[in-house]
Amino acid sequence: MRLVTIRRITQGFFLVLMIGSCLVNRVGDRWYELRGWPVSWLLELDPLVGLATVLTTGSLYKGLLWGTLTLALTALLGRFFCGWLCPLGTLQQMVGAWTDKGRRPKARAYGRQSHPGQKIKYLLLTALLTMAGVELVCPLVDLSGQGGWIPPVAVILAGIVLIRTGQKTPWKRSTGWAMAVAGSLCLMLGNLLPGNRLLAAGLQTGILDPIPLVYRSVSLVVLPLISPDGTFVVVTGGLLTGGVFVLVLALSAWRPRFYCRYVCPLGALLGLTVRWSVWRMGRQDKNGDACTGCGRCDHHCEGACDPANEIQWAECVLCYNCRDDCPERIMGYSTRPSTTGENPGPDLSRRAVLTAGATGAILLPLARLGDPLGVGWRPDLVRPPGSLTEEAFLNRCIKCGLCMRVCPTNVIQPTVLEAGIEGLWTPRLDFRLGSSGCQHNCIACGSVCPTAAIRPLALEERMGTASFADKGPVRIGTAFMDRGRCLPWAMGIPCIVCQENCPVSPKAITTRTIMETVAGLDRLIVQQVSSRAVHLNLPFTRSPLAGGDYFLAGPAGPQNALRITGLQAGWIQVAGDPAGAGFRQQTPAAVVVRLQQPYVDPLHCIGCGVCQHECPVRGRAAIRVTSENETRSRAHALLAGTGLPHSKD
Ligand code: SF4
Ligand code: SF4
Repeated sequence: MRLVTIRRITQGFFLVLMIGSCLVNRVGDRWYELRGWPVSWLLELDPLVGLATVLTTGSLYKGLLWGTLTLALTALLGRFFCGWLCPLGTLQQMVGAWTDKGRRPKARAYGRQSHPGQKIKYLLLTALLTMAGVELVCPLVDLSGQGGWIPPVAVILAGIVLIRTGQKTPWKRSTGWAMAVAGSLCLMLGNLLPGNRLLAAGLQTGILDPIPLVYRSVSLVVLPLISPDGTFVVVTGGLLTGGVFVLVLALSAWRPRFYCRYVCPLGALLGLTVRWSVWRMGRQDKNGDACTGCGRCDHHCEGACDPANEIQWAECVLCYNCRDDCPERIMGYSTRPSTTGENPGPDLSRRAVLTAGATGAILLPLARLGDPLGVGWRPDLVRPPGSLTEEAFLNRCIKCGLCMRVCPTNVIQPTVLEAGIEGLWTPRLDFRLGSSGCQHNCIACGSVCPTAAIRPLALEERMGTASFADKGPVRIGTAFMDRGRCLPWAMGIPCIVCQENCPVSPKAITTRTIMETVAGLDRLIVQQVSSRAVHLNLPFTRSPLAGGDYFLAGPAGPQNALRITGLQAGWIQVAGDPAGAGFRQQTPAAVVVRLQQPYVDPLHCIGCGVCQHECPVRGRAAIRVTSENETRSRAHALLAGTGLPHSKD
């Protein structure tokens, strides 16, 4: 079988496997909604996920070690991941091949020529990794902050001396430049910036990393659109998520594998690793004269790596199309160098790399300027149960969307700007969307998160039972009553929906009963009295008087009011004897309503948001959950400085 055919089968296999793993990443009763599948396996193979989280957190979460295998194999074989495994690469390749069919060979070859713009992806990678690793300079900054301005100025001066005296000695010049730059950085950061909070690491690789991108797009856009039972699943920011995905594919119709060539930071990381690869593509004609110059090797080249001339290893995605297309059969995959020469790495100028790194380092503080107090906390932002503290969470979340897909109630939604620019596409709970709030006996999101941004919880820990009984359940926030919107509080309308739906035991919502005169029905005059009914000068009313919560009060006051059981032609039927309760002709009467006004008990509320979801007040619910009192951060305690204890404390 031809290598190209094997490659296509492999690509199809991994594409189907990726879509399948998104499809089964669901808690439900359907046959395919299975639990326990390794749904994040492709993310774990992605070395950029591992590398970036190591930079931001200083640790490698279990499954992410697989990324080192990808790097090792890339160093041995070349960019096999891009050409054989990556589902986004496969999708782009399919679009590119389809649009290429309508092009003439010359136009086809033109679109597959290498282009200087292909370096952009390396600069993007540099910027993203600088963002992730910027915290590594903190010890340096702290040091210079403690020592004042003298040490960094001394380092700068020493660097300048080395540059001046080392005009003919490259190592002296490079060391001098490094010292001058490091000294300036220390001086600037340690002495000019108040504190170094702005230097906190930021994990933004997930925005452009193709594996989280494709997982996110398939989970949040493609599968909801084709949901098998026809129910449309709402996803906030769907236009943005889907728009990026469509744009990536549309651009590959213009230039094959556009994203891989110009944007993909994972491709750039693998491209840098290829520098040491043992096997690679190249021309294998012994004397270098077998090529007839037909140019067919360019016609289907997926990496735009100029195979006929000095092949650029870093760009080659091992599609083997050149090998297949060459009529002279001189293109081969070998440990021998190409007879026309090779260019192993991207030709990047030092200035461009430094500029990209500096841009990455500056962009993050800029994104954080909107939060000058450094609290980084927006009470309206409720994170899934098990989420790490906000800073640690942002240092781990790669925006893959696995948690959003697995959520059985779809309450986890991607943020757009609710968590700031930095938090784009991270998960938040939107209690109005989805089919309910956060189920208090569900631990699905933490069990699929590939980076432990949402740490895996045991059911006992989530619910605060067994050995966790002394700590109480995991809280994600607290519900607050909006008395200005609540029906019993603000409008005299009976409602106990939130109290009824509160799933915790004992309930976190209690009610206090009051009797209140119904506005407009408070100055009635009794016309006639029968054994079970009273006739009154009743005006038109929309109140459902026979609902069980309405009473007719006579001269004896609300204490002796009779429950209204029906209403017919001005006659109010009551439960009990009206005459016995003091109703007489021409005596005053009033309709009173029994209201159960809800109160939230913050000691028992876990912030599941079922009450907010069920609240019948449309628009802004009358009971809303904020992240106050969430378990993940004592600093977010309800009462500043005190720290509300756990329910069992
Ligand atoms: S928190 Fe959700 S979106 Fe972020 S890495 Fe974990 S599973 Fe992916
Ligand atoms: S958010 Fe609190 S009050 Fe509302 S339903 Fe959940 S536990 Fe009950």
